[in-house]
Amino acid sequence: MWNDILGQELPKRILRAHLASEEIPHAYLLAGPAGVGKARLARVMAQALNCTSLEERPCGACIFCQQIMKEVHPDVHVLQGTGASDQIKIEQIRQLISRLSLRPYSARFQVAILEEADRLTEEASNSLLKVLEEPPVHTRFILTTSHFVHCLPTVVSRCQIVFCQPLGQATIAEIVAKEASLRAAEAHWVASLSMGSASKAIALAKHWDSYLLNVGRLTDGRLPVWLKDIPETRDEVKELLEAMLNWLRDVSIAASTERIPLLHAGHAKALKRQARKADVDRCLEAVWELVNLHESLAQFVSPRLVATMARETWLSLGVASDKQ
Ligand SMILES: [Zn+2]
Repeated sequence: MWNDILGQELPKRILRAHLASEEIPHAYLLAGPAGVGKARLARVMAQALNCTSLEERPCGACIFCQQIMKEVHPDVHVLQGTGASDQIKIEQIRQLISRLSLRPYSARFQVAILEEADRLTEEASNSLLKVLEEPPVHTRFILTTSHFVHCLPTVVSRCQIVFCQPLGQATIAEIVAKEASLRAAEAHWVASLSMGSASKAIALAKHWDSYLLNVGRLTDGRLPVWLKDIPETRDEVKELLEAMLNWLRDVSIAASTERIPLLHAGHAKALKRQARKADVDRCLEAVWELVNLHESLAQFVSPRLVATMARETWLSLGVASDKQ
């Protein structure tokens, strides 16, 4: 149901206007940051295209709406990246095309949802292009991407692009309060740290205690803590890097302006103390080093090695010392 999607008012208006006019483009590309509701929008659109209700569509209650929600409708196909490379491969596109060449089993439209279309291999993209150029009559494509610039221009040019924006803080706080058992003030704090991404906020809310622990370490900054407590697992290291990145953002702001609110306003004193010691240019360099380390974690570099390098980066800032 449209109302279940929080935020994204403009994309919802665009899609609903197309449905009302019965002029529905053959292919959409929903583009925007991760975790803002693109996958959900794609599914609701697939429901709306096939819902049998005579009133508000999708109704959420008819058999088609229900089957699409449970991802068991034979005419709605969801393609995602697979394997270690997490790419959408040519075999998946070939299978899809072969199914699309047949009439829908029961629905009005066959809908192909391709999630993170920037992950199509080159071969898969070229194969998809042919069907995007001459799509079967009863078919609609809904592609999504969090990395618009990495999508093949030839694919993009065949789609109606709908941009999804980061979600507002109040919307995210509402989502977090629903999904995780945090108090309202903490839910707002999580929302302010999540840069408009609901999935990022929910993930952060789930490890909120360890986030606070990491922030405590960064505030403290005493060397012995770092020497003893190098985290070991990929998740722990990821959490540490995320805390470091948010903290460094605040150190840089505390060093340069009072006009932008701090993400960790409760630690303003420690941030200002560190900001006096820090060189802002070096902080920005460190941000890039930490972002690269964060990416290398996804490429299966040893978490312990990443954590050790992150610690070296942190110590090189000169904000941590054994003297408080
Ligand atoms: Zn329905």
